[in-house]
Amino acid sequence: MASQLHVLIVGAGVGGLMLAVLLEQAHISYEIFEKAKELKPLGSALSLHNSLMVIFEQLDMYQDILGISKPFGALHFLKEDMSVTGSLLARRPGVDCAEHYGDYNRVVGRPDLISLLLKRVPPHKLHYNKRVLTTKQDENEVILQCSDSTSYAGSILVGADGAYSSVRQNLYKKLAMVGALPKDDAKPLGYSYDCVVGISDRLDPNIYPVVLEEYCEFQAVLANDSPYTWWFMPLVGNKISWMVTHDVRKHGTDEDRNFRFSEWSPIAAMEMCQQVRHLPCPYGGTVGDIIDHTSADLISKVMLEDKFFSTWYSGRTVLLGDACHKMVPFGGQGANMAILGALHLTNLLYDMYSVSQDEITQVFRKYYDMRWKPAKTSVDGSKKTGILLHKKGVVADSVRFMFLNWIPNWAIKLGGDKLNARRDQISFLPYVKLRGSYSGSQVNPPSRRIVHKAYNARAV
Ligand SMILES: Cc1cc2nc3c(=O)[nH]c(=O)nc-3n(C[C@H](O)[C@H](O)[C@H](O)COP(=O)(O)OP(=O)(O)OC[C@H]3O[C@@H](n4cnc5c(N)ncnc54)[C@H](O)[C@@H]3O)c2cc1C
Repeated sequence: MASQLHVLIVGAGVGGLMLAVLLEQAHISYEIFEKAKELKPLGSALSLHNSLMVIFEQLDMYQDILGISKPFGALHFLKEDMSVTGSLLARRPGVDCAEHYGDYNRVVGRPDLISLLLKRVPPHKLHYNKRVLTTKQDENEVILQCSDSTSYAGSILVGADGAYSSVRQNLYKKLAMVGALPKDDAKPLGYSYDCVVGISDRLDPNIYPVVLEEYCEFQAVLANDSPYTWWFMPLVGNKISWMVTHDVRKHGTDEDRNFRFSEWSPIAAMEMCQQVRHLPCPYGGTVGDIIDHTSADLISKVMLEDKFFSTWYSGRTVLLGDACHKMVPFGGQGANMAILGALHLTNLLYDMYSVSQDEITQVFRKYYDMRWKPAKTSVDGSKKTGILLHKKGVVADSVRFMFLNWIPNWAIKLGGDKLNARRDQISFLPYVKLRGSYSGSQVNPPSRRIVHKAYNARAV
């Protein structure tokens, strides 16, 4: 690794923090710049794919992940009268996810995951209250400028600053000026749903016995007579995370479209809570009962948008996570894609020998080549899943019923194998043995530097 390499990371979300944790392990110098004064425990549940568990094991964080999450057990689709249309099971007889792939997906509250990652980042490397406004780069360095008039220089800049990335906007403005920005990248994100989310306080198991269950079984209510779908995901600590989505493709007003809440924030959440509180809850009572058990400042509303950007880097600047591939949450892929992006970028940075523009460009190109396809597949797949879930009417109901009840085990296994086609690891740490009976996963090769070092040591 090049000794002068200094990485500036913009954004302390899942992607930015995971990158920091990995750079820390790689002994690569870095700093993070986050616009918030502190990281507020906002958000709902995230599902961590089973294939990521090897990475957490390498980082000695596996037990911590198990401690803050529940194994994903099932996703049940219900109608408004609470009858079950069908279920996707992680423990289907003959296709048990942990038996095949070593682990179940793990369902974790976003705030708990953020807190866990934060513990691994030395506080002096994370600068709060630093809203990055502009960026500049030349052959030798990249400089970012914050709203408090401070500026920082580094050898590369990673824009992990979410769907409305200012790093991306700065980069694209400059590329557009020289005619180097593809037309599609200049278009706005697609907006189809708005949503309100939260995580309840600790609930009384006598009223909500589901909180004591070992596995997290999602309940998703898809109603025919309403533009909403509503979701419940039990978490550790006797809490239930919840989300209500509103399909604005047909039902939204122009006002909805013009007045966007593109940031996860408690502002405007209350109005939507009022509109949805009468909806029935699968655990008894209404959605309003769960809302009443959730601290108001931990409920957020956001517009759900999506877009795959095809320009991920230029000069010394590169994008990561939602900044370059924003997806709607129905595929449960946003955090997974950000974590995998951080993994591959760090592996490549670890093997750099210099911080020359040429070498940086090569690294960024390899990173893009590795990540664009899975990211695009996730953006497109999540959009299709959203459409399938929100479609109304008898035909849509029948399609969902057939898909959920008639899908054979072999097809489920094929899908699982595809998702486990790669189980990549941190290339510069000792590899962990893959668990589970499935032996078809590919694993990335170990770091070039580590291999050279071992070869040289043997030669001496
Ligand atoms: C508060 C919050 C709650 C969320 N809740 C959910 C949820 O319930 N369900 C779900 O599926 N997804 C949720 N997401 C999105 C999900 O976390 C991401 O899709 C995924 O984890 C990828 O993360 P990311 O790091 O790329 O982006 P994000 O998680 O969006 O993180 C981006 C970070 O960059 C910071 N930032 C933005 N602009 C600037 C700037 N100019 N200067 C400095 N810092 C900046 C933001 O404050 C944020 O901390 C949430 C995101 C946030 C920020």
